[in-house]
Amino acid sequence: MQKIIQQLSNQIDRLNEVEDLTRLKLEMQEELSRLAMEIDIIDFKLQRALKDKSVVNSLLTKTSEDLKSALQKQESQAEMLNILLDTIPALVYFKDSGLRYQIVNKAFIEFSGLARTDVIGKTLKEVFRHYLPEGEYQTLEKRVIKEGSFFYNVEELVEQNEKKIWVHTNIAPVRSNEGEIIGLIGISWDISSQKNYEQQLKHARDMAEEGVRSKDQFLTNMSHEIRTPLNGIIGMADILNQTSLQKKQKDYLINLLNSARHLMSLIEDVFEFSAMVTGKYKPEMGKFSLSQLMDQAGEKFKKEAEKKGIKFRREIDSELPEFFVGDKGSLRIVLRNLLSNAIKFTHEGHVVLSVKPEKASKNGQLLVRFEVEDTGIGIKDIHLNKIFESFSQVDISTTKNYQGTGLGLAISKSLVEIMKGRIGMQSSEGKGSVFWFVIPLKAEMPEEETFDEAKIIELLKAFRILMIEDNLINQKISKVIFEKNGCKLEVANNGKEGLEKYVDNPYDLILMDIQMPVMDGLEATRKIRQFEKKQGKRHALIVALTANALESDRRKTREAGMDGFIAKPFIPKELFKTLHNLIINK
Ligand code: ADP
Repeated sequence: MQKIIQQLSNQIDRLNEVEDLTRLKLEMQEELSRLAMEIDIIDFKLQRALKDKSVVNSLLTKTSEDLKSALQKQESQAEMLNILLDTIPALVYFKDSGLRYQIVNKAFIEFSGLARTDVIGKTLKEVFRHYLPEGEYQTLEKRVIKEGSFFYNVEELVEQNEKKIWVHTNIAPVRSNEGEIIGLIGISWDISSQKNYEQQLKHARDMAEEGVRSKDQFLTNMSHEIRTPLNGIIGMADILNQTSLQKKQKDYLINLLNSARHLMSLIEDVFEFSAMVTGKYKPEMGKFSLSQLMDQAGEKFKKEAEKKGIKFRREIDSELPEFFVGDKGSLRIVLRNLLSNAIKFTHEGHVVLSVKPEKASKNGQLLVRFEVEDTGIGIKDIHLNKIFESFSQVDISTTKNYQGTGLGLAISKSLVEIMKGRIGMQSSEGKGSVFWFVIPLKAEMPEEETFDEAKIIELLKAFRILMIEDNLINQKISKVIFEKNGCKLEVANNGKEGLEKYVDNPYDLILMDIQMPVMDGLEATRKIRQFEKKQGKRHALIVALTANALESDRRKTREAGMDGFIAKPFIPKELFKTLHNLIINK
């Protein structure tokens, strides 16, 4: 434009020299129109620039507003985070890689008892001067920073302000955007009340276990204490029964014997049941003769059936071998329970005890099925499924009319299950019942059973026999049994007295009670064995005579140095048989 103005002024200068004004005028008009165009362009550019400026301005305003609101949002989020941290009742903290506190929440400050400014930038030991941890928390923190590991459920006992506190902590590493570990975040809470509760629970459990142990002990002691005098009653009544009595006296005596035997079977039920529920029951494995087992189980019930006018039969399938290895003690108890019920609940008809093979099982064992069938009162369908539960008797009238504890079938079920078998029943009300169980049994080759009662009695006549037993009635019964067979029996009233007698006399056989005052049978046996060893004296046979009939009791007697074991109440035949095995078949 300056150029155009310059040209215009040149042309005005030339006005004075040039005469051809018309041409000059034309040239000037041309220049003027060019100038007008240039001015339009400038104006256009100016307008555009002004427009751009307002766009930029509005953009700037918007950006600054956005920034402001983002900042406000961030501030309110930080504020919320702070409120959140401060409302968490646990101690929350962030530490840098030098393990110095950078952020802590309100609970942390309260726990430390310091001002926030005294915490930030400090280490654990600077903040908690009397902190006495028992765990390995500090080592774990270093591992979080070094290895980036996470630790959960770290528990330690710390002492803070002279108070012992259980603290539970979770620790995790914090990383920068580049993945570098820049610190850790920890959250800890006081679990003292939970720990106390746990300790109380543990204490309560220990007490309960102790209670169960004392209950077991109590039951064992009680069964011993009750069975011992009861043995006395039965033994004495048996002896009395062999004397000449008037008919009336005999009747009274039979009633007395029946009640005493019934009481004995109730006590045995309770004892067996308690052994079962406390897991104390140990199977009595051994070889047995099937026909003998069936005879022994049925012997008592045969007489009872006769008295009630019921037929009693036992049937053994001819396919079955005679000898088996198994838990004969349990088998006897189960058969006894089933037979006792069958006789009890049957008033006419018959009771049949039978055994037959079910089928051969894999490992050379036979599945043997025992059945007790009766034509008794039967059981209503609605009671069938709870009949094997403890203390279950079908209805009140049953309890009233028939004696029982409601334990027999529960014990039987447990025993059959211990023997890895199954038990069941079918019954029809008013018609009768069949109770059965199937167990795996290992067949055994027969072995000559040589029990010559006369021979052992003959031998025992030459023996010096000492009975160590505190119960006077038991002493008396045993004396009668031995003396009736021409043998002598000397007696000591407790372990100490027995030991003293033994030291001065050469006894061949000692019948030793276990539970006795002053010195018990186990200790007396140990002392006798020590004495024999020291003096080079001949080994005397010591046989335990005890009402504690569990396998664990037998083990204790063996460990103490006894040679044999006879469970009380013993029948003379069993006693002589055991002595036969110990002396002749040894
Ligand atoms: P109890 O000591 O009462 O006989 P059991 O556990 O042996 O306890 O038996 C539980 C109940 O089952 C009995 O009380 C009786 O009601 C019923 N029961 C058992 N066996 C027979 C049976 N052979 N006939 C009829 N009822 C039976």
